[in-house]
Formats: sequence, C-alpha cells, structure tokens
Amino acid sequence: MGLPEEKLPSMLKRWLKEEIHSASTFTRYREPLVGFASARDPLFLRLKEVVGQNHLSPSELLPSAQTILVFFLPFTPELVFQNQKGDWPAKEWALAYVETNQLIKRICERLQRELSFLGIRSAFAPPTHNFDRVTLTSGWSHKHVAYIAGLGRFGAHHMLITRQGCAGRLGSLVIEAFIPPTPRPTDEHCLWLKEGQCGICFKSCPVQALSSEGLDKKRCYQWLLKVAEAYADLGLCDVCGKCATGPCAASLPRY
Ligand code: SF4
Ligand code: SF4
Repeated sequence: MGLPEEKLPSMLKRWLKEEIHSASTFTRYREPLVGFASARDPLFLRLKEVVGQNHLSPSELLPSAQTILVFFLPFTPELVFQNQKGDWPAKEWALAYVETNQLIKRICERLQRELSFLGIRSAFAPPTHNFDRVTLTSGWSHKHVAYIAGLGRFGAHHMLITRQGCAGRLGSLVIEAFIPPTPRPTDEHCLWLKEGQCGICFKSCPVQALSSEGLDKKRCYQWLLKVAEAYADLGLCDVCGKCATGPCAASLPRY
C-alpha cells in the first residue's frame, strides 16, 4: 500500500500514545519520547563488541530492516520519590517495572499490527529478560539501541539519561520502512562524566555494585534476584532502580 513516508513517524507516535492512554495500569507516565535509528548505522556493528557476542543486528531480527523505532516511557517524579527512600526498592517501583514491561509488549504488538495493515513488516525483542543468565549480556539492548536512536547519553550508572531523565522503561521495534534518523545529542548529560560532580548514584546503591570504577553486574543481579523473590506476588520483578532516583531521574541533571 502506498504511504507518504513522512506520515509514518506521526502515525507511530499516535498509536503509541493511544496504547498508553488506554492502559489500565496503576503506574502513571509522563510524555513518551520517540527516536529513530537507521538499520545501517555503523554503531550497530559495534554492539557485539560493546554489549556481547549474542547481541543481534537489526537485520538478524528482521532481514528487511530499515529503521529502528525506540521509545521511552518516563516514570513520574512521585514514583522516583517513592523509590528514593531507604535501601529496599519500593513496591510501587517493582509494580511499575512489571506493568511497564507488559505495556511495552502491548505497544509493540499494536504498532506491528497497524504496520502490517500498511504492508510493512516489523519485529521486536521482548522488553526485558532477553539476556544470557551467565554472562548477563543482552541479546538486544534497548538502552544501546536507544542511544543510537538519539534518545540520550549514558550516565555513570550505565543507564541512558534522556531529556526526560533515566527513570522509566525503553522499548523498540525494527521496521522495514525508511524514517529519517534522529540526531544524537553531542553534549554529555551525566554530571560525573561531564565535570566529575554528583556521584549520587554510587552512594544510593544498597549493595555497592556501582562506583566510579564501574558496575559490578553480578553483584547487582544477585540483589535483583533477592528483590524478585520478595515481590514474587507481583510477577517477575528483578528490579531495584535506586541508582535511577538521583538528579538525572526525571530530567537532565542539574546540581
Ligand atoms: S546520579 Fe549523577 S553521577 Fe549518577 S548518572 Fe546521574 S548525573 Fe551521573
Ligand atoms: S540497580 Fe540497584 S543494585 Fe543495581 S547498580 Fe543500581 S542501585 Fe545498585
């Protein structure tokens, strides 16, 4: 079916927002962010080296891939505040993780359905739990793909800091239509990486898995499994996010 390509980005954003607004989640979201990357962006070639050998390329997910759409669903400052307290992750944060992963899947399914009506193929990796349990490396790292799609810059906490902050969840969809890529921000967002200031995320890690030396993924994951066990009634929520409640949580950081 013929479709002026310039209409696609606004249609995709409209479908995405409709799914968010019709979701009956306890979790609330702020305005979502959307970015696009070209499947031919040379940075994709580096992900096997940067993330892990099991990381897929866009064409391994969809042979006719042209564009990758990435979206960020930002949590509210109220939820960030709830998870700031104490060492133990807030139940609301754990619930937000479970609900948002389900919502991301529904959004991807909706976009896929709408695109298929237009004769456009698409494919997506699950929002989470698509990683190797031994190496803890992801088969499709939404945050690295989001970086390529211009949604933000990495912080010292190894998460992506978007202009709506880092507290929220990312989803992505590989599609076979061309959409112009989103320019990547060139300025550093994290205050630690920019000027050696802040470091609040290091202090907020309850198990000292995060420091200026880097992230101890195994130590972090052991903690996430404890949280998952305690909140098993909510679903699979191996989550913590204490490091995502600092000054870069809900906006670009200021100090
Ligand atoms: S809390 Fe501070 S140091 Fe940590 S990622 Fe955010 S801005 Fe950077
Ligand atoms: S998610 Fe929690 S345990 Fe893992 S690095 Fe962040 S604060 Fe530390």
